[in-house]
Amino acid sequence: MNVRITTVIMIAMTMTGYCSNAIAQQDLSSVTIKTHHVAGNIYMLEGRGGNIGVSAGPDGLLMIDDQFAPLSDKIQTALDKLDKGKLKFLLNTHWHGDHTGGNEAFGKQASIIAHTNVRARLVTKQTLFGREVGPSPKQALPVITFDDSLSVHFNDEKIKAVHLPHGHTDGDSVIFFPKSNVVHMGDLMFAGMFPFVDIDHGGNVLGVARNVETIIKMLPKDIKIIPGHGPISTLDDLKAYHAMLLGTVDVVRKQVDAGKSLEDIKAAGLPATWDKWAGGFIKTDGWLEAIYKSLKQPL
Ligand SMILES: [Zn+2]
Repeated sequence: MNVRITTVIMIAMTMTGYCSNAIAQQDLSSVTIKTHHVAGNIYMLEGRGGNIGVSAGPDGLLMIDDQFAPLSDKIQTALDKLDKGKLKFLLNTHWHGDHTGGNEAFGKQASIIAHTNVRARLVTKQTLFGREVGPSPKQALPVITFDDSLSVHFNDEKIKAVHLPHGHTDGDSVIFFPKSNVVHMGDLMFAGMFPFVDIDHGGNVLGVARNVETIIKMLPKDIKIIPGHGPISTLDDLKAYHAMLLGTVDVVRKQVDAGKSLEDIKAAGLPATWDKWAGGFIKTDGWLEAIYKSLKQPL
């Protein structure tokens, strides 16, 4: 087998792996859950899927997002190791299965809180990556929903969930822990990589850029940031991410204004300065397409 054919097969295998990842049909048996202390009462659990945030203190546990259903037992073990009692509340940053897959298991012990549109998505059938998802069982649904913002007074902290419209999806929330000086960005931040933006479910790249700018203005300089995907980040990391969003949108906008097609734009690619952002789930072609589609939509 020559090198070229081997490469094609490897790319095909990688893509299959990605799709499986996206639809949660992969073998998760080898995944381990790593617990990172972020600051104050806040921890980040890293496994497979979206990063989990946990407030652990005298009132017990509050968790943000819960990855894929098959990881629930391992996540529970990691929660038990924090040794702060029971899980009381679970917040979902948005409806995607790599952030809500554990809802059915954890909804048995905790009250699930989310934006109105998260419940609306979970309660009905959705199609993502060409596959039908849901509807979710009752146990997995948020029982407390909000439209703009909501605070939970827990572990000596006013934990605040704030909805931002039409970014990663149409139901995104960012969760602030002002006393611990931590924020969970949900999938409004993919640290160090081009993000997935769910345009079919109310997302828009320009909305992500606008919402990230709004959040940057709200954050103190020494904030610790839990991104939806990627490592614990700083305000400078978030600013670099925002600059990438603006810079790459600008490249595509100029070509759209000049009448170029999506094919032309993909063929031209991005300047090499943005290459390092293509190491995540979304490669340059996919990112250019998301920007192109977002520019064609009213925000
Ligand atoms: Zn997502």
